[in-house]
Amino acid sequence: MYPDTQLLIDGSWRDGATGRRLHVLDPSSGKQIGCVAVAEKEDLEAAVAAARRMFGPWRDVGAFERAALLRRAATLLRERCEALSPILTMEMGKPLAEARGEILSSADLLDWFAGEGQRAYGRVVPARSAKVSQIVLKQPVGPVAAFTPWNFPMSLLVRKLGPALAVGCTVVAKPPEISPAAPAALARALMDAGLPQGVLNLVYGVPQDIANFLIPHPSIRKVSFTGSVEVGKQLAALAGMHMKRITMELGGHNPALVFEDADIEEAARQLAAMKFRNAGQVCISPTRFLVQRSVYSRFAEAFRRHVETIRVGAGLDSQTQMGPLVSAGRLAAVSTLVSEATSEGAQVVAEGARDGAGEGWFFSPIVLENVDIGSRLLNEEPFGPIAIMRPFDTIEEAIEEANRLAYGLAAYAFTSSIRISQILQNELETGTLAINHTMLGLPELPLGGVKDSGIGSEGGAEAIEAYLVTKLVTQAAI
Ligand code: NAD
Repeated sequence: MYPDTQLLIDGSWRDGATGRRLHVLDPSSGKQIGCVAVAEKEDLEAAVAAARRMFGPWRDVGAFERAALLRRAATLLRERCEALSPILTMEMGKPLAEARGEILSSADLLDWFAGEGQRAYGRVVPARSAKVSQIVLKQPVGPVAAFTPWNFPMSLLVRKLGPALAVGCTVVAKPPEISPAAPAALARALMDAGLPQGVLNLVYGVPQDIANFLIPHPSIRKVSFTGSVEVGKQLAALAGMHMKRITMELGGHNPALVFEDADIEEAARQLAAMKFRNAGQVCISPTRFLVQRSVYSRFAEAFRRHVETIRVGAGLDSQTQMGPLVSAGRLAAVSTLVSEATSEGAQVVAEGARDGAGEGWFFSPIVLENVDIGSRLLNEEPFGPIAIMRPFDTIEEAIEEANRLAYGLAAYAFTSSIRISQILQNELETGTLAINHTMLGLPELPLGGVKDSGIGSEGGAEAIEAYLVTKLVTQAAI
């Protein structure tokens, strides 16, 4: 039942020019389940040519019509959710319930961006003379190159396609080769909803080669990437060389600050749920748990109880709460970070069971204490089901540790003190801060980082701005 994935170029689903294909593997078994086509240079050229040719016609479609189309695609995703969720689970590994949640949230994102596209206002600036009009127009930037990752293969693509299509941009997207079918299903829903041929093109292949072709291409006017800081910096540098606008949604090493006046049980429950969602492979997953010393053991104990109840297994098993990691490479990376930390003196104080987990790339959820501050684990994003506990005494100490790294994506805090909340709002170097709950990532909220965690925002009204350019028109009456 798992479909092979082809390229979508100028409205046709087809293989690349040489017929090359890559294998798609099931993370819960390590076995091949399908293939994805590889785009060659001529395929990429054809995709860009289609996006360039269709930019004028798509821009000139009315905002209401574009919005109606996105809403129809959202409806199709909801109708197809039960059929698509096993496909997303098979290629990515997340439990079925999370796959369903991702597809439904993709539909919600499409609805949100449809509405925002109808509200992409310019403005009128009062003139110095009654005979002059001064109008600030917001126009679509042009054909977009979008690079998206495997952890949310559908919804992270929607965060780029939604605003781009809503305001009249055309797109050449390179979704992940690891989990290609869910993004293709999204493209199919958009095509079935009436998206004209050539407005959206999907290419897969060798990521670096595709980026090196698309980013400098004179027809591409905007580059949007979600992935690691390291790759993001390379792509941003290339885009800078060619004066292309960018959105970079990169990694985090997100702190969660728990103060002694918080509801400790509730903080542990909510933070554990947030930590182990998608096996910790979430850019906004909390990783550094900074807990005030007086409540440290209570919090650690409550958190440990949650960790030990998590059922790890294959995503298609309805009992599973946490699936495998996405690839052998990620399993190796996460395992190395943990074994380095333990060889430097860190202790594993809690570990989830792996009942029902088979052959694949499974890694049990774990909690570590006494991790050396210089350890790679405390400095590089682990992107896995790892929680690191550290006690602190004063708010100043907690803020210093939270801000210590070059990342600045998400932060969490639990406290009942308004004073502490206000200090954190002012002092934490982060793109998003959730206090006393963990609900970030809703369509209507801006999502993006500061410092090395990126440039720009992929939610809320801010997401639309990223696909618009400003044009001033000033006119005198004659
Ligand atoms: P990665 O940056 O190598 O890959 C992430 C995505 O970017 C993949 O889909 C990949 O196909 C694509 N990619 C890689 N190199 C590229 C290039 N030169 N040009 C264009 N696209 C390219 O990361 P990874 O090894 O797959 O995952 C590990 C790290 O990635 C994690 O530790 C995490 O920091 C980061 N990551 C972040 C997010 C996020 O949501 N911000 C998502 C996935 C991965």
